[in-house]
Amino acid sequence: MPSGRLEGVPRNRTGFHPTGQLVGMTDDTDPQVPIICEECGTETSVPLSDVGDQLETHNENRHDGEECAEIEPALKSQIQDLVAKDIGLLE
Ligand SMILES: [Zn+2]
Repeated sequence: MPSGRLEGVPRNRTGFHPTGQLVGMTDDTDPQVPIICEECGTETSVPLSDVGDQLETHNENRHDGEECAEIEPALKSQIQDLVAKDIGLLE
C-alpha cells in the first residue's frame, strides 16, 4: 500500500500542522495562507487572520524566535499588503 507523502512530517503543539495542500479559499471562511518552514521541512495552510500568530508561535517555540517559518514566497507578494503590518514583512 502506498504511503502518504505526509508520513514522517513533524507535528507540534502550536497548531502549525502539515496539510500537504495549499490554499482552500471558500466564501464563508478565512482565506487559507500557505506557510512553509524550511528549517522543519513543514508546509501548511492557516487562516489569513491567524497567519501572524502562527508564524510567531512557531518561530518562538521551534526556533527561539528566529524567523524561519514564512509565507509561501510565491504568494507573499500577493498577500503582503494584507498581513504585512501584522507580521512585519515590510520592516
Ligand atoms: Zn520551523
